[in-house]
Amino acid sequence: MMTTKESTSLAGTSASTVNETATPENKPETKLELKSTLTLPETKFPMKANLPQNEPARLKQWKETGLYGQIRAARKGAEKYILHYGPPYANGPIHLGHALQKCIKDFILKSKTMAGFDAPLVPGWDCHGLPIEIKVDEKLGRKKLEMPALSVLRACREYAQKFIDLQRSQLVRLGVFAYWDKPYLTMSKPYEAKTLETFYDFFEKGFVYKGLKPVYWCLHDRTALAEAEVEYEMHTSPSIYVRYALTSDPAAIDPALAGKKVWTIIWTTTPWTLPASLAVAFHPEFDYVALEDDGNVYIVAEALAAAVREACKLEGAKEIAKFKGAKMERVTFKHPFLERGVLGVNAEYVTADTGTGAVHTAPAHGADDFYTGARYGLDQTCNVDNEGRLRNGRAEWEGQTVFEANEPIIKLLGEVGALMGRSDIYHSYPHCWRCHNPVIFRATEQWFIGMETPLKNADGSATTFRQRALDEIKRVRWDPAWGEERIYNMIATRPDWCISRQRIWGVPIAVFLCNKCHEPLKNELVNKHVVALFEKEGAEAWHKYSADDLLPGGTKCGKCGAVQGDGEHAAFHKEMDILDVWFDSGISWNAVLVGNEELSFPADLYIEGADQHRGWFHSSLLCSVAVKDQAPYKNVATVGWTLDEQGRALSKSLGNGVDPVDIADRLGAEVVRLWTASVDFREDVAASENLMQRAADNYRKLRNTFKYLLGNLHGFDPERDAVKDDELLPLDRYMLARTRELTEKVLDWYEQFEFHRVYHAINEFTIVDLSALYLDVLKDRMYTFAPVSVERRSAQTVIWKITEALARLVAPILSFTAEEVWGYLPRTTEREASVHLAEFLKAEEIAGEQDEVLMAEWKNLLLIRDEVMIALEVQRKAGKIGKALESRVRIEALPTGEPWRLLKKYESSLKELLNVSQVEIDDAPGLRAGAVPIANYDLLNKKLINPLVFPADGIKCERCWNYRTDTGQYGAWPVVCGRCREALDLMGYKSLSESAEKQAHA
Ligand SMILES: [Zn+2]
Ligand SMILES: [Zn+2]
Ligand SMILES: [Zn+2]
Repeated sequence: MMTTKESTSLAGTSASTVNETATPENKPETKLELKSTLTLPETKFPMKANLPQNEPARLKQWKETGLYGQIRAARKGAEKYILHYGPPYANGPIHLGHALQKCIKDFILKSKTMAGFDAPLVPGWDCHGLPIEIKVDEKLGRKKLEMPALSVLRACREYAQKFIDLQRSQLVRLGVFAYWDKPYLTMSKPYEAKTLETFYDFFEKGFVYKGLKPVYWCLHDRTALAEAEVEYEMHTSPSIYVRYALTSDPAAIDPALAGKKVWTIIWTTTPWTLPASLAVAFHPEFDYVALEDDGNVYIVAEALAAAVREACKLEGAKEIAKFKGAKMERVTFKHPFLERGVLGVNAEYVTADTGTGAVHTAPAHGADDFYTGARYGLDQTCNVDNEGRLRNGRAEWEGQTVFEANEPIIKLLGEVGALMGRSDIYHSYPHCWRCHNPVIFRATEQWFIGMETPLKNADGSATTFRQRALDEIKRVRWDPAWGEERIYNMIATRPDWCISRQRIWGVPIAVFLCNKCHEPLKNELVNKHVVALFEKEGAEAWHKYSADDLLPGGTKCGKCGAVQGDGEHAAFHKEMDILDVWFDSGISWNAVLVGNEELSFPADLYIEGADQHRGWFHSSLLCSVAVKDQAPYKNVATVGWTLDEQGRALSKSLGNGVDPVDIADRLGAEVVRLWTASVDFREDVAASENLMQRAADNYRKLRNTFKYLLGNLHGFDPERDAVKDDELLPLDRYMLARTRELTEKVLDWYEQFEFHRVYHAINEFTIVDLSALYLDVLKDRMYTFAPVSVERRSAQTVIWKITEALARLVAPILSFTAEEVWGYLPRTTEREASVHLAEFLKAEEIAGEQDEVLMAEWKNLLLIRDEVMIALEVQRKAGKIGKALESRVRIEALPTGEPWRLLKKYESSLKELLNVSQVEIDDAPGLRAGAVPIANYDLLNKKLINPLVFPADGIKCERCWNYRTDTGQYGAWPVVCGRCREALDLMGYKSLSESAEKQAHA
């Protein structure tokens, strides 16, 4: 690509030529300046893009003319290409990762549209969920707890809407085309209704069950907390050592223990969990020791034995055995104060950092404990209610909060002789982010979608939900291919999907529960009624109406037969948990694609960040397989992360942040877009201010190429001036063939989303083919030949076709600039009003049949040219010649060889191609007087050529700077070559200059 400097000289060379000619000595006042007889490039296409000002103006124009609607209308009825847009979360401005993804989607859809597809885009936003509810909580503070639910929901809605509007304006600013005025919002009434309807589909088909799961729980706010809502603060807890008596055979653990009174010692800082103690966990690989003290034997981890001896006053104890923790699996203990057993279990998470290496396990009160409990089939029931009060334990602490119960429990342990040691510790403990009270772990009832739900294959054979999802993964094309294994393994190993959240900002799990037996009501008519209500009033309806309002009298519990309307009290109550937001977005195919005539299901493509194998790709697959028995997409592609040039994440605090909105405001959206095109988005991509500036430089070079192309089309009327393909000069025909070749490659890469290849191919074409070769050697023809001459029109025809092709090829990426170029292209009758309404030129529209012979021959001719250029450079460096035009070149070749044949065949093109004044082809290789041999070049099937450089023959024409033997007087001009005389005649200058001369003599 041209640099700014080069391109200035490109346009300015002949101007300086003319200045030299027009010195006062040889130019009478009245004489017409030769300069004015040259046809220099001329266009109003501005060199300076002013993107920060002009892009918003262009957006305004597109909006006013309804361009997006026009595009949709123009492609109506064409084959569809449906990219389904993943909804970004509406809680902040867009960042560079968003910009990258949205620009890539835009490249895909614009290139599909220009390839003739109908490729509409309905954008969307993910609006519900914790991040927004937390922000609103922060804003409302404790006030939220006293506010009616509907007011909180309104505040959440407003918060989400604010960021939807902001992100929309930012994405529009980047030039991304979509139905921005009718996006899908997961918080809209129809969407909320569709979410609920899809949930009911799962529910009615038997995918949904209620089960237990341990969660962080705030007693004060009486709510479950997500990991993100828990903060660690310092807290004082009792630290106690408690002994559990072994009830199984000690000799089974180690023969040395036979007949002994054996215990293990556990350590805990939450005595209140002891009533729920169901197991003691040992690490299977750790060494455990048996310490005998005064007739009692204590089993603890060897690594912690010293600390335990100290804490439990067992300094004098004697080690009598040592064995692996694996030996402790399935031994039994007696609970220290309850009449039940406690099981020995093995667990890998047991550490040797603190405690005893024997871990008290209460499945209802810890995440690890819960899953260990599940593995060993232990009861996970939680006997702590949502206010944190102990229930169903011993009468003396019934109804006490867990923290109140600590001391009585410790006292009891002392009384029964189980307490081995006690102190207090001041340690980091999870607290509620909102009220700053310590939180507890509590197993709570949650709603799940069962991965092992039985299903049937198409042939009637039995399968499961999980297996069907895995089958569908194999039918999808994953790009990059590793995505398939990633999502496959995730689906294969994931636990059941916990879809309930104890929050308010979301779609309620609108299920009625029997007051008597807690059974969920399964009634399709009732469910339809609630969906219809959501359509009208949104999810707020669930908060507005009571179960009595919503349920028709006579509604009957399927399990216990309780009937709505019998008795004073309602027979049912409403479940108030909301759905996981991944369920919301996971059904977007159902809310957006299904039933929309303009779109279609399944989508051709989902494309998002590479983390979405765990997220949106995942939940969308599960929802679609459950409801439609097929994946919602045919292809899934991923976009890498944006990192800085050192591979670090971009962040404001590191000072390496790159804000796409700021780049658009300072450098232009085109720069963000061009940077996006320059990276291989499947990998992690580098971004920095420096790389954006580099993209801006590349942009300027591309823009200058367009300016130069347009300048040379001045006065060209394609309908009047275009030259037929077979009348084009050989060089022009070759360039047309190159353009055709480029187009074919680029269209192929667009189809494969290889935008960085498109970027590099277009860059290379403009730098190597256009700036360094074609536009450079054409200067002589473009500036000095008469506009009506077939030679000049031949070049213009090709420049016109190149510009037509290039403007379209860059339009998906440089959407603003392509549209600007479009406005400057010569008018033709069939041209669309916008480049975005046009299609890519098909290869055959650029040049009929691809002339492979011509291509091959010119590629070889260009190799010969390279050699001549080296020879000229050597002579220039030696001071023998100045400009190339001051030289005559003789190319020696063997008459039997291919170079000879080529040189002869294209003899008429050589002068221009080499940009010298004369070229001769000689069949007598060897040295000639006055010539300096450069080298013998082993080229082209081992046939030799030998370029020799001499000073040009003849006199320099003051108009075209060529050295010619036919230069002479032309009218009032003393030194004009024969070629220029012909051009001037054609341009009607003969009479002009004669009359000027007469005037001067008069
Ligand atoms: Zn709290
Ligand atoms: Zn019931
Ligand atoms: Zn001339």
